[in-house]
Amino acid sequence: MMLPTHALGGMALAMPVAFVAPEFTGIALVAGLLDGIVPDLNLYVGHRKSLHYPVYYSALTLPALTLAGLLPSVPTIFTAFFLIGAAVHSVADIFGGGLVLRPWEATSNRAVYDHYWAQWIAPRRWIRYDGSPSDLLVSITLAVPLLIALNGVLRQIVIVTLAVASVYTVVRRLLPTLAATLVREVLTPRHPDHLLTYVPARYRESGY
Ligand SMILES: [Zn+2]
Repeated sequence: MMLPTHALGGMALAMPVAFVAPEFTGIALVAGLLDGIVPDLNLYVGHRKSLHYPVYYSALTLPALTLAGLLPSVPTIFTAFFLIGAAVHSVADIFGGGLVLRPWEATSNRAVYDHYWAQWIAPRRWIRYDGSPSDLLVSITLAVPLLIALNGVLRQIVIVTLAVASVYTVVRRLLPTLAATLVREVLTPRHPDHLLTYVPARYRESGY
């Protein structure tokens, strides 16, 4: 799933805090926003392996939530909602497409790496690929309660995130061609081979 969907999902998961401990709503929502983003920071290399921990994040969620319930404070609330969102993010990626340049072609059996069992989990493709219309629909659905409940900066963040999601959905299927062209036409003629080995293989495909 695309990054905006994860960010909105993390924020939506933090919304119940507004009813239980309203003074911590802001920090819980920021944690939710960040855990939507952080696991995808390594989009360039090792994506869905080094920062996605579907088993470990999930296992840590319950103790962190218990601690936050017993000792509510900025650090405990932040940690609990960061872990909840990161766990859901890592598991949600399993229901998307595989880890390839064109996931809509359904050519990859790799969705998320399971460090516990040391193996890749296959994509379920409920959401065919990141940035698909169904992915955008999930983003919109998650944003609705947030837009109703929030105001100020957090509401503006939701609006900007939705805008990014919409633009990404429109251009998503053009991006692989753009990236491959950039590598072929701009990087390859100008950089020696040893530097190009740092460009992930999926961007060095020929014939596109
Ligand atoms: Zn991810």
